[in-house]
Amino acid sequence: SHAPVTVTLTGAGGQIGYAALFRIAAGDMLGPDQRVRLRLLEIPQGMRSAEGTALELADCAFPLLDSVELTDDASIGFDGTNIALLIGSRPRTAGMERGDLLEANGAIFGPQGRAIGAAAADDVRVVVVGNPANTNALIAQQHAGGVPAERFTALTRLDHNRAVGLLAAEAGVAVPEVAGITIWGNHSATQYPDVSGATIGDRPALDVVDAEWARGAYIDRVAKRGAEIIEVRGGSSVGSAANAAIEHVRDWVLGTGERRTSAAVVSRGEYGVPEGLISSFPVRAVDGAWNVVEDLEIDAFSRERIDRSVAELVSERDAVRGLGLI
Ligand code: NDP
Repeated sequence: SHAPVTVTLTGAGGQIGYAALFRIAAGDMLGPDQRVRLRLLEIPQGMRSAEGTALELADCAFPLLDSVELTDDASIGFDGTNIALLIGSRPRTAGMERGDLLEANGAIFGPQGRAIGAAAADDVRVVVVGNPANTNALIAQQHAGGVPAERFTALTRLDHNRAVGLLAAEAGVAVPEVAGITIWGNHSATQYPDVSGATIGDRPALDVVDAEWARGAYIDRVAKRGAEIIEVRGGSSVGSAANAAIEHVRDWVLGTGERRTSAAVVSRGEYGVPEGLISSFPVRAVDGAWNVVEDLEIDAFSRERIDRSVAELVSERDAVRGLGLI
């Protein structure tokens, strides 16, 4: 088998980390022939929980798992890393101002970006899960001198998978019948799940489901699915978030073929999204790189929704600039 790949998780002692680590070690992310070295990066108060997870990983005796290292030092955590899943973040709490949220995350993702720039492997690939994910990814990217910008991405795969699942359910078809959905913009309530180019079987999705539903209740349901999960489950989504992060990395490394998915990647100005923003696009992964699928038709409704979400990303970028975080 190939030389082992080093995978670093931040927030490894948290819930999403717990749900992701066993699957990564089992080969679900990089394939059944790829050995992995795990680095669990935590803040001091998360170390004990991460240690517990490490003990359980040992108790699985995974043949693909070469080693597990724990640290609360980013320069050690990212040393030689090939794949970094940045899961730990400072989520918004009740009464918190946006500036405070961005400031708290700047203090996490700036230093992590610098450590990645200084210590990671040349082929490092980064996916940010912790919210506000797009802007946290931008902060890390801006601090990671020497790392090509396109190696920094943010997760919108969970939104994408939610959009696929809910459309399949509405149409009464199996998931593999659904193709061509796009999540545009920010991983936030302004995200735009777009079915205008989607197909169900060999038919346009908008010929199968009610177009008014697709442009109203459906968009709301996808965008607010996180809140629905919290309401029903009594806690935020964990298994589905970990699954999405694993699928994002798996596709990025192993390729999508012709299948389209969604990921927040650095804009080169595609679809009028300002260059340098980390915004969700329709993508395919080829030869280890995300490519934005270009030349899709954007109708007036979609244009307005994309612009609205991108405007939010611009305002987050301007806010972190104003705070001196990038
Ligand atoms: P989770 O593992 O449940 O979530 C981790 C982060 O993922 C949260 O900030 C959450 O933001 C975000 N997230 C993004 N998308 C989703 C989604 N769809 N569903 C749920 N969460 C999502 O949090 P825990 O509190 O269990 O664990 C966090 C861990 O991170 C702790 O162990 C803490 O010590 C650690 N940490 C590490 C840091 C570091 O390494 N420097 C920095 C900060 C924390 P949101 O709540 O907004 O959805």
